[in-house]
Amino acid sequence: MPKEYRTIRGDVALPYKWALGKTWTRFFDGLKEEKILGTKCTQCGKVFVPARTFCPVCLSDMAEWVEVKPEGEILTWTFVSAKYYGQVKDPPYIIATIKLVGTDCGFHHFIGGVDLSDAKQVRQKLKTGTKVKAVWRPEKKAEILDIAYFAPLK
Ligand SMILES: [Zn+2]
Repeated sequence: MPKEYRTIRGDVALPYKWALGKTWTRFFDGLKEEKILGTKCTQCGKVFVPARTFCPVCLSDMAEWVEVKPEGEILTWTFVSAKYYGQVKDPPYIIATIKLVGTDCGFHHFIGGVDLSDAKQVRQKLKTGTKVKAVWRPEKKAEILDIAYFAPLK
C-alpha cells in the first residue's frame, strides 16, 4: 500500500514593484487624465493598448502614440463567482476582453453596470460584440482601475 502524504495550508505573500518603464508610465499617466493611450506600429500600422515599446506582430519600434476612444466591443467575457487568493475585487464580477475602437488587440477589464444577481439575464445582456464604454472612477491614481469598468451601451 503506497504511503499517503498529507498537505498543510499556508499563504505566501510576495510584495513587489514592477518597473513600468517610459512606455507604461506614459500609458498609466494618460489614464489619470481619462485618456486611453496606445502605440501604433510604424511598419504594419497595428495599434496596441496598453501601449507597447515594440510591435508584437513585426517587432518594429512603436514610436507613434495614439489616443483611442474609451469604447469598444466585447470579444469574450467570463462571470467570476468563486473567490480565490489574489483577486483584486470580491466576486461576483465579470471580466472581459474588449477590442477598443481602432485597436488591433484585446484589452482586459471589468464589465460593470450589469445586474449580477441573475446569471441568465447576464448571459442575455452580454454577447460577443456587445458595445461597451469606459466608466472612470472619480479619483484617478494613474492605475488601471482609474477605469472603474466598462459598461454596456444601451
Ligand atoms: Zn508591426
